[in-house]
Amino acid sequence: MSEKFIPIKPANGFSPLKTKPSQTLPRVAHGEVRDLFKRPLKDLRISVTDRCNFRCTYCMPKEVFDSDYQYLPHSHLLSFEEITRLAKIFVNHGVQKIRLTGGEPLLRKNIEFLIDQLSNIKTLDGNNLDLTLTTNGSLLARKARLLKDAGLNRITVSLDGLDDAIFKEMNDVDFPVSQVLEGIAKAQEVGLSPIKVNMVVKKGVNLSQITPMTQYFLGSGIVLRFIEYMDVGATNGWKMDEVVPSAEILNILGSSYDLKMVDSTSPGETATRYSVIDKNGKQGEIGLISSVTQAFCSSCNRARLSTEGQLYLCLFASNGFDLRTLLRGDSSDQEIEDHLQSIWGSRSDEYSRLRGQNEQSSNGGFKRVEMSYIGG
Ligand code: SAM
Ligand code: SF4
Ligand code: SF4
Repeated sequence: MSEKFIPIKPANGFSPLKTKPSQTLPRVAHGEVRDLFKRPLKDLRISVTDRCNFRCTYCMPKEVFDSDYQYLPHSHLLSFEEITRLAKIFVNHGVQKIRLTGGEPLLRKNIEFLIDQLSNIKTLDGNNLDLTLTTNGSLLARKARLLKDAGLNRITVSLDGLDDAIFKEMNDVDFPVSQVLEGIAKAQEVGLSPIKVNMVVKKGVNLSQITPMTQYFLGSGIVLRFIEYMDVGATNGWKMDEVVPSAEILNILGSSYDLKMVDSTSPGETATRYSVIDKNGKQGEIGLISSVTQAFCSSCNRARLSTEGQLYLCLFASNGFDLRTLLRGDSSDQEIEDHLQSIWGSRSDEYSRLRGQNEQSSNGGFKRVEMSYIGG
């Protein structure tokens, strides 16, 4: 094991170790790493672009992400080789699942080449990586076959309603529902499985879509997940009274369907799952992601890698840890592994839990990073 330690220094120079000087965790060459709350690192979300062709009002509001908005220059983006090198290092420390996201990941040119490289990585116990991708579905009909052939296992598609007027109000670029549904159908046809559909629910906007969306996906094998509208980033003007609590969604669905809670399949799962049966016996499954009303920080095993190689330990963080400089310097894999162990070993993020208790946020009140930059 290398004796050389690289000082921990996130992007803006703020060092968490300065505030937690007593943390000196044992380092291991390979193997699971645990944070200060004993949470392992299992899930890596990689943002492959900060660009998107939608302007969802809750994520990239048009007023901010307008024609003058400065996206990252191409030279700042991690290359596919850099991403793959980092992915292997993360997998050596316990990551079993990688999700490609963005921005809109299907806008990244030749994304299938990256999928091909990542799909060859084996986990510590010798299994295939659980490799997935979250997309707005706009380019899915065109790309589903390429993605599947490159080695993508499964996919999550975001869709906030079946009513065109409501969906267009939310995506804010006049994009029709039919093209997303076409993408989902194509993903099914090529065998991406399971397919999940994410629906962000915002009060006063798409509450009416909860039942039609549930009914539409019943019997299809596709799992619909309702996501509470989150206070992520600093641009969406989030207000608590626009959040539809999962409990309210359950109440709405309970009047039309027979709902039964289903056990979670993996530790750290974000959704509470329910089986759903309608009056004619048609069955399906839904998930509720209660990020606001029922924080799941205690089991949070997710890290996020931004498009330009900043590592974020929480969706609500303000600071990332610069891995690109290491990649583009002369750091060995072992040095980067040491760095990763130090970063994860010092992690104490639990933003949503503290928000739920009205305590000061774990980011110390700094401006939070945008979701389109680090990925959902
Ligand atoms: N562009 C892709 C998409 O929309 O699927 C991937 C990136 S997007 C940031 C990932 C997920 O985050 C989407 O399912 C989106 O609906 C969700 N999301 C974005 N902003 C959100 C917010 N403020 N609250 C809850 N979910 C949000
Ligand atoms: Fe784009 Fe996804 Fe954000 Fe919508 S949620 S603006 S599709 S990145
Ligand atoms: Fe994980 Fe941060 Fe979300 Fe808590 S708030 S579940 S620590 S990403």
